[in-house]
Amino acid sequence: MDYASILQEIQQESNGFPTKGNVTLTIPELAKVSPNKFGIHLTTIEGGDFGIGDSNEKFSIQSISKALTVALAFSFLDEKIWERVGVEPSGTAFNSLIQLEHEKGIPRNPFINAGAIVIADMLVSCLKNPKDDFLAYIRLISGSPTIEYNLDVAQSEKDTRFRNAALANFLKSFGNIENDVDVVLDFYFHQCSIEMTCNELAHSFYFFANEGKTKEGKQILTKSQVKRLNALMQTCGFYDESGEFTYKVGLPGKSGIGGGIVALFPKVFVVATWSPKLNRKGNSELGMHALELLTNKTGMSIF
Ligand code: GLU
Repeated sequence: MDYASILQEIQQESNGFPTKGNVTLTIPELAKVSPNKFGIHLTTIEGGDFGIGDSNEKFSIQSISKALTVALAFSFLDEKIWERVGVEPSGTAFNSLIQLEHEKGIPRNPFINAGAIVIADMLVSCLKNPKDDFLAYIRLISGSPTIEYNLDVAQSEKDTRFRNAALANFLKSFGNIENDVDVVLDFYFHQCSIEMTCNELAHSFYFFANEGKTKEGKQILTKSQVKRLNALMQTCGFYDESGEFTYKVGLPGKSGIGGGIVALFPKVFVVATWSPKLNRKGNSELGMHALELLTNKTGMSIF
């Protein structure tokens, strides 16, 4: 497959794509990002690397980090995770509070904010130095020792934390947060503030496409654990637009309000896109379009 030419075609065809959205306004520090950035990086399991546009520029991975925290928590706690977080699509916005009341403090899945905050709580309990250890894990799976938290973004999230603080306190009232709420939120804001390039992001998700093994050959999760997390990304990875992403693109993946998307075709490739203009549901407009073009042009969708 000539991925280099296909990415070039996608870049050309995306140039004229009419975007209506804007960069996220919910985190002031992220509202400063240039809306016209656009990059794609595709890495094949066989070892090929193909990048175009701004694919080597760092951006805030935001909710994409939720797939990585759940992977780490899964490696410690295995199926026990699901006693505190569900595996069903939510059909509500990423930061919604509504379902928590009905479901007695058990978030529907680990990719909505409520679920990710519970996973953050699990990691705060499991890790000795949670923020340092999580960063070390990210550097290990990506093979990139220079990945960092963006402390300005983490602080900006803290300054505007009211909804996430409401979620964390509400969860605590149901007994589904073990640690101090502020400590858990601090960890959560840091995980969201991690910056990566499309290249680094594609490599970080390599193990999801390679039966649990990183590019460097380290077994991070079992084959069956990875199968489960890929299924969760497929059904819940795009907020209340997970059906739309499955319908149009047909790959498991995860998006973030920094405008990044990572998606993968098991045993074949991982692809990361970045374009900060978001649609109404909080997903990158151009990123979704580019991935739809990719699966149409290559014929590689899991369906
Ligand atoms: N840090 C963001 C928040 O908690 C993450 C949202 C996202 O990327 O969906 O609101």
